[in-house]
Amino acid sequence: MREERIIHGVVASVGTAIGKAVRTFDPLFVSFNFRLRPDQVRREVERFRGSVEKSREQLKRMQSELRKNSGPESSFLIDAHLLVLQDRLFVDRIIEKVETDCINSEWAIQQVSDELFQAYDRLNDEYLRERRGDLDDIVRRLLHNLQSKPLPSFKKLPYDAILVGKLVPPSTLFELRSQRIVGLATETGSPLSHTAIMARSLEIPAIVGASELAEVASGDLLIVDGERGIVIWSPSDETVAQYKSRDRDGKKLKKKPATVVSAPSITEDAVQISLGANINFSEEVRAAAGQGCEFIGLYRTEFDFFREGKQPDEEALVADYSLVLKSAKGAPVTFRTIDVGIDQKSWDGVNMNLGVRGLRFCLENTDIFKKQLRSLYRASVHGPTRILLPFVSSVDDLDAAHTVIEEVRRELQARRHRFDRNVPIGVMIETPAAAQTCDLMASLVDFFCLGTNDLIQYYLVVDRSDQSVVHLYNPFHPAILRCLQQVYTLLRPVGKPVTVCGEMAADPPSAAVLLGLGFTSLSVSLAAYTRIKRMIRSVSMAQLKDLAAEIMKMHKPKEVEEMVRAAVYRT
Ligand code: PEP
Ligand code: MG
Repeated sequence: MREERIIHGVVASVGTAIGKAVRTFDPLFVSFNFRLRPDQVRREVERFRGSVEKSREQLKRMQSELRKNSGPESSFLIDAHLLVLQDRLFVDRIIEKVETDCINSEWAIQQVSDELFQAYDRLNDEYLRERRGDLDDIVRRLLHNLQSKPLPSFKKLPYDAILVGKLVPPSTLFELRSQRIVGLATETGSPLSHTAIMARSLEIPAIVGASELAEVASGDLLIVDGERGIVIWSPSDETVAQYKSRDRDGKKLKKKPATVVSAPSITEDAVQISLGANINFSEEVRAAAGQGCEFIGLYRTEFDFFREGKQPDEEALVADYSLVLKSAKGAPVTFRTIDVGIDQKSWDGVNMNLGVRGLRFCLENTDIFKKQLRSLYRASVHGPTRILLPFVSSVDDLDAAHTVIEEVRRELQARRHRFDRNVPIGVMIETPAAAQTCDLMASLVDFFCLGTNDLIQYYLVVDRSDQSVVHLYNPFHPAILRCLQQVYTLLRPVGKPVTVCGEMAADPPSAAVLLGLGFTSLSVSLAAYTRIKRMIRSVSMAQLKDLAAEIMKMHKPKEVEEMVRAAVYRT
C-alpha cells in the first residue's frame, strides 16, 4: 500500500471531501479515466478503432483538399499524421492497454502518448524532436473523435468522486453537477478562475494549483482539505477517521442563523445597502429566492447556454429563462449575455482572455447572440428582467450591441411575440477601457455592473486563472483603489444604478473598501451572502468613509490590507 502523502495547493472552495480520484484528461477534450468491466472491453476497443477510422477519413479528406488548393507539398504534412495512425507502436499499444489493463481508450491514449512524448524529448535530433507536435495533434484528434462515441460508463462516476486533472473546465463541473462529485483538485488554476467560482457555487470543496497531483491515478483515495489547502493522497485509516468526525462537526456548524438571513442589509449608522446574489446556473435561483436575496445581480448564462456541449433551441431557452424569472418570485434577474472564452486557451494556445471574449464573441456570432436575446425578451413577461453585456471596451461595442438588440425587438414585434419593451440594458465595467470611459457609455445603458474579477486582472496584468501570479492579484493595490474611485466619481453624476458583482464584493475586507468608496449595491455568490450581510450590519458607513480616505493615501497593497482587516475585524 502507498504511504500517505500531503500535496499542497491553494484553497478555491472551502470544506472537506473524502473520495476516489477520477482523473480528467486534456482541458480541451475532457474525458475521464475509468476501469472497465471485462465484458465492456470488446466494445471499448471498437470505440477506439472507430475513432482511428474517423480520424483517418478526416485526414484523407483534408489531404485531398490541400492537394487541390495548394499543391502537393503541404499535403505531405498530413502524411506524418496518417503515419502515426498506422504506427503499431502507437495504435496497437493503445488497444493492448485497453485489453490488458481494462481501462477506457482515453486513459490508454494518455499513457501511450506520455511514453512516446518522453521518448521524443530524449532525442538529440532537433527535427525528430519537433515531430512530437504531430503526435500531439493526432492525440487531440483521436480524443475529439472519441467524444462523439459515447463512453459506456461516462455518466456513471463512482460515488464520492473527486475530479482530478491538470485543469478542469467550469463547464465540466457544471455538466456533472448532479453526479456524486464531492471534491475537486487541479494541478493548475487559481481561486479566481471560473472553475473555482463554479466549485464555490456548487459548494464542492476544491484545491487548485497542486502541481504534484500529476501522479494521482483514477481510483486512488484522496482527501481534499479546503481549510488547510492540501490534498491527502492515500490517507491512512486513522486520518480518514479524523476527517470523518470533523466533517460531522462541520455540518452541525454550517446551519446559518435565521436572524442574519432575514435581517435587512443596513449598516450600524442606518445606511441601506442593496445586496444581490450571483448565480451560475438556473437551479440556484430558487435557493437565492429562499434566502430572501433582493435581486440576482449576475446570472452567468454561458454555462446553461452550452449545457451538454450543444446549443439549446430557442423554445428551450425561453422555457428555461421563464422558469428562472418565475422562481425568482419578483426579484429582478440580471441575465449576463454569454461570456465565452474566460480562462480558456484556443486550439493554438492563444489566451482567450485577450481575444474574442464576451460581447466580442456575440458580435461575431450574431445568430447565437440573437437567439439568446430573443429568448430573454420573450421570457421577460414572467418577471423583471435585466440584460447585461460583458467584456465591453468601447462605445462602438455598445452601439453594435444596440443595433442587434433593436433588430431582435423588431423581429419579435413582427412575429407578434409579447415582451417587456422596457427591459433595462446594462454594461459590465470590467476592462480598463470601460473603467476610463464609463461616463461616455452612460447615455447608452440603464445600469452598470462593476466586474472586479476581470478589472483587476487587466489592470494589474495578472492572469486570474494562473496560479503562479496569484500573489500579485490584489484588490488592495493602489491602482485598483484609484480606478474604483475614478469609476465612482465618473458615474455619480450620471445617477444610474451601479452594482459591484466581482469577488471583491464577496470578501468582507475588500467589500468594506467598496462601501467606503461609495458603492452601495453589491452582488455576491450565495455562499458569501450571509457573511457579507453580517459585515454590512457590523460596520458604520461614516467610519468606512474615513477608512477609505486613509487608504487612498497609502502606497503599498499590504499596508492597505492590514489597515482594512484591522478595521473590519476590529483586531
Ligand atoms: C467579473 O469579471 O468581475 C465578473 C463578475 O465576471 P466573471 O467572473 O464571470 O468574469
Ligand atoms: Mg468578468
